[in-house]
Amino acid sequence: MAGEPQADCLFCKIVAGEVPATVVRETDTTVAFRDINPQAPTHVLVIPKAHYPDAASLAAGSPEILADVLREAGEVAAMEKIAPEDGGGPGTGYRVVFNTGSGAGQTVFHTHAHVLGGRGLEWPPG
Ligand code: IMP
Repeated sequence: MAGEPQADCLFCKIVAGEVPATVVRETDTTVAFRDINPQAPTHVLVIPKAHYPDAASLAAGSPEILADVLREAGEVAAMEKIAPEDGGGPGTGYRVVFNTGSGAGQTVFHTHAHVLGGRGLEWPPG
């Protein structure tokens, strides 16, 4: 059923505490933890506790939880002092990325928002 934990899902195991992670924030519906292979000084993943394979399926199935994920992305940025109000130069402001589909670089099929910042970020992304 949509949202139910999946036995073979790495991020469901992090939610369950079966795989260790450096958790920086947790709410009733979300967990935020540091990416194991950071691509920027701040690289935190915000995930819903419920299992949805990608952002589109989360938006369709539980839009209120997708809003929670995005709100938490902002809270992580504030905590890491990379929010726009922390200044205007390189290293402030942040990017929220949902890789969606293997062709776009998604490797873990449990929705996660990458929160990236702490350095200047190029556009377009690679
Ligand atoms: P994707 O490529 O957009 O699916 O992102 C998956 C992310 O999960 C990558 O940035 C990985 O470095 C990260 N990752 C994989 N395993 C772990 C883990 O056990 N802890 C924290 N991050 C992980």
